[in-house]
Amino acid sequence: MDCYEKLHIKRIINASEPYTNLGGSLMEKETIEAMAQAAGSCVEYEKLRDAVCEKAAELTGNEAAFITTGASAGLELSAAACMSLDSAGNLDMLPETSAFSKNEILVMDGDVLDIIPYWRLTGLTGAKIIRVKPDVASIKAAVCERTAACMLFPASVYERGILTCEELIPVLKEEGVKVIVDAAAQLPPASNLWYYTKTLGADLAIFSGGKHIKGPQSTGVIVGNKELIDLCKAAASPNPGLGRAFKTGKEELAGFITALELFIMEEEEARFKRQEKQLLTIARSVSEKTGIDTEMLRQGRLGTYQPLLHLYLPAPLTAKECNKYTRNLTPGVDVGVYPPEFGMAENVVFVNAYNLKPGQEEAVAEGICRYILEARR
Ligand SMILES: *Cc1c(COP(=O)(O)O)cnc(C)c1O
Repeated sequence: MDCYEKLHIKRIINASEPYTNLGGSLMEKETIEAMAQAAGSCVEYEKLRDAVCEKAAELTGNEAAFITTGASAGLELSAAACMSLDSAGNLDMLPETSAFSKNEILVMDGDVLDIIPYWRLTGLTGAKIIRVKPDVASIKAAVCERTAACMLFPASVYERGILTCEELIPVLKEEGVKVIVDAAAQLPPASNLWYYTKTLGADLAIFSGGKHIKGPQSTGVIVGNKELIDLCKAAASPNPGLGRAFKTGKEELAGFITALELFIMEEEEARFKRQEKQLLTIARSVSEKTGIDTEMLRQGRLGTYQPLLHLYLPAPLTAKECNKYTRNLTPGVDVGVYPPEFGMAENVVFVNAYNLKPGQEEAVAEGICRYILEARR
């Protein structure tokens, strides 16, 4: 019996996204091996952490990088760093911010702000979150000497109702505001690891390690300005302040850096082609057995660029019901359902092969076909 069987936990085939509630991505063999190796010896933790962070900066072409326990931890550490830029001596006082000259974090009041609520986490640092109307005049009016930073979410859906990162960052820089970009799920392309910071000029950008990078699920990385990254580090474990709650282990550090190197070094087009082959197998099988329309795309979700398959279920079938049906199979199959804010028709199922192991295509196709054919009876 393996660990999941012992716990009576059913396996799920991931044909959707590296969602946290599916356990994130599947790590590559090399990443798992690196974690096992790291688990075999004690080391000087801070030396290991610094070496891993330095290598992450190098691989992503950023001035500096800091590995933490997820993008959420990255949001909090980034906010703490921006607040303490003028008052570094006060860092250990957080979340008590009365001694800080800068303690306000701006967020843009777009249509989906309350649907994607990760920005609230910056408030755990003691920062006061200021919701700003998303136009240039309101931004200029909101910026004051207490403004520590502005947090942005770069994805066409998240940016609905606000200016894009490309438009906002120059305005914020002109006002002298530090910019933090929550790009947790904005991969691939891998070039986003340096796009927001090096091309657009954001001070910090944050990515999940357990989503598309395929690192340990409990990791994340902050990249960007060295002075701010040093403050993130000072706020983080092993120091006993605010960030002690986000302790990366030696295994996670070793696993993350191995995964990051694999992610960046792999030729993206080769991975896309491999995924497209899997998606085509599913598309052919489903359309042969059910006659429904399918479509291959190359745009991804949330502003990413990657291959996706759309399957158009016959009315009145919906993607949500299809997902419920296939999740109930053994093993379960998680097919992609667009959340309402995407504004997609309810009959569109999407399939992403990012975490689909070779050989799992037929189980995905089979599950979707069974749902359609049973509904037709
Ligand atoms: C997933 C996600 C997070 C949280 O990332 P973790 O690595 O799970 O902490 C934060 N922000 C956005 C936009 C996300 O998609």
